[in-house]
Amino acid sequence: MMKLGVMGGTFDPVHYGHLVAAEGVRYEYRLDKVIFVPAGRPPHKPNYRISDPEHRLALVRLAVASNPFFEVSDLEIERPGLSYTYDTIREMRRLHDPDEIYFITGADAVLEILSWHRFEELLEICRFIAATRPGYELGGLTGRLRELPAHLVERIVPVEVPALAISSSDIRRRVREGRPIKYLLPESVEAYILSRALYKSELHQDQSFCK
Ligand code: ATP
Ligand code: MG
Repeated sequence: MMKLGVMGGTFDPVHYGHLVAAEGVRYEYRLDKVIFVPAGRPPHKPNYRISDPEHRLALVRLAVASNPFFEVSDLEIERPGLSYTYDTIREMRRLHDPDEIYFITGADAVLEILSWHRFEELLEICRFIAATRPGYELGGLTGRLRELPAHLVERIVPVEVPALAISSSDIRRRVREGRPIKYLLPESVEAYILSRALYKSELHQDQSFCK
């Protein structure tokens, strides 16, 4: 029985919130591995200028290096057009032939699932594991998703993970303002950000569109 976890995100940059959520879910569900998939062009963040995919990919590679259960895929980055999770899960099925796929999200992302491309079919082909995240109420999950058929609601499960009030947008803001990011992400990730002077420029000023 092969159980595959998939952790999607912009990862601009990856931080301990992502890693703790993925590791918590991996353990709870006894996943064989978790593949991190940095988004190419996220449909939900059209107004925010995302860092080069090569940088985001390199950062995730550094971040997962010390965990034998974690891998990284450049599948969304290499695929042209918008990055839809539905296409990604289909591709993961084809490539790895797992018995079960668990798509790992934070509480904020899972609450938006009703607006996702082909979300009903998506829920048919993978389970959603919603990691708790400070500032987002998972209690609202059942309320908002009530309109879904019961067999699909069952496919979405919350998992309690250690609460880390860390976000990529806060990290970008901190870098821009010269405030510390130490202990919010792995040292190798911090070193890469500092050495390439990521998040210093005006490009990352328009923060109002992303949380
Ligand atoms: P941004 O601030 O740019 O939106 P982010 O910190 O939310 O960045 P994303 O790349 O948007 O990071 O998130 C990828 C996935 O990780 C999402 O499902 C998100 O809910 C989850 N996630 C991010 N940070 C945390 C955290 N601190 N705890 C739990 N889950 C998290
Ligand atoms: Mg986010």
